[in-house]
Amino acid sequence: MPEIKKLLIANRGEIALRIHRACHEMGIKTVAVHSTADADAMHVRLADEAICIGPPAAADSYLNIPNIISAAEISGADAIHPGYGFLSENAKFAEIVELHNLIFVGPKPEHIRIMGDKIEAKRTAGALGLPLVPGSDGAISDLDEAKAIAAKAGYPVIIKAASGGGGRGMKVCTSEDELETLMQQAGREAKAAFGDATVYLEKYLGNPRHIEIQIFGDGNGNAIHLGERDCSLQRRHQKVLEEAPSPVLGQADRDRIGTICAKAMADMGYRGAGTIEFLWEDGEFYFIEMNTRLQVEHPVTEAITGLDLVREQIRIAEGHPLTLRQQDVQFRGHAIECRINAEDPRTFAPSPGLVKQYHAPGGMNVRVDSGLYSGYKIPPYYDSMIAKLIVYGTTRQGALRRLRRALEEFVIEGDGMKNTIPLHQALLDVPEFQQGEYTIKWLEEWLAKQDAE
Ligand code: ADP
Repeated sequence: MPEIKKLLIANRGEIALRIHRACHEMGIKTVAVHSTADADAMHVRLADEAICIGPPAAADSYLNIPNIISAAEISGADAIHPGYGFLSENAKFAEIVELHNLIFVGPKPEHIRIMGDKIEAKRTAGALGLPLVPGSDGAISDLDEAKAIAAKAGYPVIIKAASGGGGRGMKVCTSEDELETLMQQAGREAKAAFGDATVYLEKYLGNPRHIEIQIFGDGNGNAIHLGERDCSLQRRHQKVLEEAPSPVLGQADRDRIGTICAKAMADMGYRGAGTIEFLWEDGEFYFIEMNTRLQVEHPVTEAITGLDLVREQIRIAEGHPLTLRQQDVQFRGHAIECRINAEDPRTFAPSPGLVKQYHAPGGMNVRVDSGLYSGYKIPPYYDSMIAKLIVYGTTRQGALRRLRRALEEFVIEGDGMKNTIPLHQALLDVPEFQQGEYTIKWLEEWLAKQDAE
């Protein structure tokens, strides 16, 4: 079995640190790569070696495949972990890594490719027995066919770009009169944004929750699920806070959907970590997409299962079997993660800058994943998420109390620098949030009400 001795982390920020930590606990040396803007970043300071791979723009550094492969060869790394974002779901990159005889800590390239194409992903998910949103079987261009499918699914319907992503390239259509215009518009916009005019159609769910299932496969036909995460608290399709378990799911529902997902992944021969995302409405699950990588919100699953997901990814990449069998997976307590962004908590305008004072909360069952330190200058070039606060409690109410206490302790200060800690504090006072009664629409409606006041 190939043993990983030195691993290159093709990422930055908190997730680069997260991967570094798992590596050092496993006795694996780490190589950080960084842009010129990140020379002073914590992931660079902690790694055993660091290599500059280009200027600030991500396209020239963190997405620069030749430079990353060169860095791996120069440093003698035997594996690459892509983290999330950047190259993590780029099948070509995974292929190139393997062609250079390096271990890619991630799924087989063919599975990344399938799940990266929304139509192909939906077709595959359907064939594997995952419940789908009713709609077209594939690409749709013929208006009469679209009308028939929409009538069968029932209005409103949503027109989606096959190559879409990041919540873009979608149009909601409420009646047959609008269908022709919106389909043409969606096709044109998809062509402009993604270079591909292909669209498909599905039923638009009015007020669902976002519930996703964490899975792991060994690549040889064995797979398990690690339960769900509820990521319904969103703004502009971006997750703001995640929790596990979902406040609305019972053990029977969890077992049912988890078993379906694990079996699908086993049948597929899936390797590594993955997340199957569903919309959930009136007790039914509807597949929307699969992410073939580690998720930002993976720590809430770690908190309730006690499993280190990055360690598990690395072990699978080395060819080990899964650490746990399904019957060994036990869920305990409740975990909540807050994403803290360098943004104005009301307008969400980015607010990068110099962090003058930094103090992270601590104490029992409090975890902070962040690359921040006093004197660190947050660069304006990348994602605005600067820290994740994860709390665990034996009950949801206990976790909420701990979250309130931890947020009180958290200090991130700089001249005029703002962050979203006040937003999370405000949410803790809202009865609907306290009771777990929120859907993917809820936060935006609540924010609009706050603005009106
Ligand atoms: P992307 O890859 O762009 O993130 P997704 O298919 O994951 O696209 O959808 C993003 C978001 O769009 C979902 O989280 C949900 O809020 C909304 N959405 C997608 N499909 C539907 C649908 N059929 N009904 C209602 N909302 C939807």
